[in-house]
Amino acid sequence: MDFSELADYFDKIENISSRLEMTVILAELFEKAKKEEIKHIIYLSQGILGPNHIALEAGLGEGLIEQGLAKANGYSKEEIKKSYKELGDLGLVSEKYSKKKKQQALFSEKLSIKKVFENFVKMSNLEGKGSQESKLKMFAELLNSASPKEAKYIARIPLGNLRLGAGDPTLMDSLATNYLSEFIKNKKIVKEIEAELKEKKAGGTRKSEEKRKEEFERKAKARIRVMIETRFNIHSDLGAIAEKLKEKGLKGLNDLQITPGTPIRPTLAERLPTAKEIIEKIGKCVVEAKYDGFRLQVHKKGNEVTIFSRQSENMTDMFPDIIKAVREQIKGNEVIFEGEALAVNEITQEYFPFQVTIQRRRKYDIEKKAIEFPLKLFVFDIMFFNGTNWMEKPFIERRKKLESMITKGPLIEPTKSIFTENPEEIEKFFLENVESGLEGIIAKDPKAEYIAGARKYSWIKLKRSYKGELNDSVDVTIIGYFEGKGKRTQFGIGGVLTAAYDSETDSFKSIAKIGTGMTEEILKELEAKLSKIKEKNKPARVESGIEPDFWVKPEYVIEVRADEITKSPTHLAGNENGQGYALRFPRMIKFREKKPEESTTVKEIIQMFEKQGNVALKDA
Ligand code: ATP
Repeated sequence: MDFSELADYFDKIENISSRLEMTVILAELFEKAKKEEIKHIIYLSQGILGPNHIALEAGLGEGLIEQGLAKANGYSKEEIKKSYKELGDLGLVSEKYSKKKKQQALFSEKLSIKKVFENFVKMSNLEGKGSQESKLKMFAELLNSASPKEAKYIARIPLGNLRLGAGDPTLMDSLATNYLSEFIKNKKIVKEIEAELKEKKAGGTRKSEEKRKEEFERKAKARIRVMIETRFNIHSDLGAIAEKLKEKGLKGLNDLQITPGTPIRPTLAERLPTAKEIIEKIGKCVVEAKYDGFRLQVHKKGNEVTIFSRQSENMTDMFPDIIKAVREQIKGNEVIFEGEALAVNEITQEYFPFQVTIQRRRKYDIEKKAIEFPLKLFVFDIMFFNGTNWMEKPFIERRKKLESMITKGPLIEPTKSIFTENPEEIEKFFLENVESGLEGIIAKDPKAEYIAGARKYSWIKLKRSYKGELNDSVDVTIIGYFEGKGKRTQFGIGGVLTAAYDSETDSFKSIAKIGTGMTEEILKELEAKLSKIKEKNKPARVESGIEPDFWVKPEYVIEVRADEITKSPTHLAGNENGQGYALRFPRMIKFREKKPEESTTVKEIIQMFEKQGNVALKDA
């Protein structure tokens, strides 16, 4: 496929505000793609140059892109900069100047997707002296052969800012659409779905044949989506999945197994407000200390160790101390396990607060900080051991396995834990942990499998509660902002409009307007980040009862505390019969390094609403 055709598709998608329509067009694009190019198309649609965990970056910052645009089109860098200020998007600047190019290239060739993609990957491999010049040259060459529309996306790719507004769930739905005819060749499945539809019909009205067909297809597609997502959960590489589908159809999914080096999507915890309710829900359970550091998924293959964050980003280079300890303390040749890393005072063995631990997440001065704030890794789960998938085994067995796989040493140890069915014992353990500076506890169902990529009651968290406040903070996505008034005029931003994530519809639904909790620094940071991605029209996948001064594409997640969750006639999170949910007296705590799709979901908000006021464990 030519790159110009892909640019046409991206352009169409960018201008669509209905998710359903977006899914249809993406499905058409994926259907048309050849086997050799589907991977590239998927990654480009995700705004990345390879699977997330490989994190290839072209290494072209805004400055170099401006320089490239100036060079390729024959204008001064100052002029390009000025235009960027006006338009707020280097993609649009690139399109504009490509239309009024002062110089025509001597050699210009039709761009293929492969050529564009591979050029950016090559750029990401360039390092050291002269690499900037080489990157600039390659970038300008691409622009020379590009039409204005292609030029728009060529400038956006290295910024990871395609503005398509399609999240992974939407991409998976689109892929699912293309395998419907293969799926329904299976007579058993067709019968099952038809039985489900009949059951529904018995209680409801008779539907027209067309409606029934629509519903049948919807149900079938939902099942395919589950098949794709289940695979994605243990093998987080949508490009590889799409390629396998092209090659072998749905049965190709079985080829993608757990592989050391490819991250598994993390299991997530539900919430309950009291120890008593935890026992009522899961019975006798393993209760572990909840450490407030960062979650690491460690992959060991012989001497090779790779570390992924909760968002499946590759963080191997950041933790040389942990890598060394894994080689020394972890038995087994091929192992995937998870733990929470935390800075600990070596002399007093006290845990440092999160603000200290987070300083270890850095690209520079790694060795220096490793000496200043040594980490400990508290291991809490194991998913793979020497060729065997441990995810399907009950947690109690996994716990035993992880305990036996760790050799005693200074840096890695299993999480503190008890095994009990006594709520009082849990409360005592909870208070002990809070007193020693930890966040609370996580109770785990001893019978449960490791459920990748989902929030289920196999893990239940109980955090230190704040009297009179909502039991837990929530993470919301910014979908718009308001101009600053009064004292805030100077910052250009007075507050933000935020949303919870509706995982069922892959959309962001408004939940709170937030103007408190922001220091001057945070306001400046908000302005710098949001002004770059502001949009005139409401982005796709956003639903809001309030119109902000500027919309922004869902990209940034912030942690928020509030007094309570209330029913709201204005906000759309959980909206039913004109009533949604809102946060009362919300205040921003900090930015979160999460993907928008990992914000607190509408379903969780409703659960929290139902449970609030039910706080049994008071501030310790
Ligand atoms: P979530 O991860 O649930 O979306 P979050 O990022 O705000 O939300 P928390 O609400 O703090 O995280 O709770 C879950 C996290 O707790 C895990 O992702 C993990 O990083 C951390 N954690 C600390 N101790 C443990 C433990 N013993 N077992 C499992 N997770 C733990």
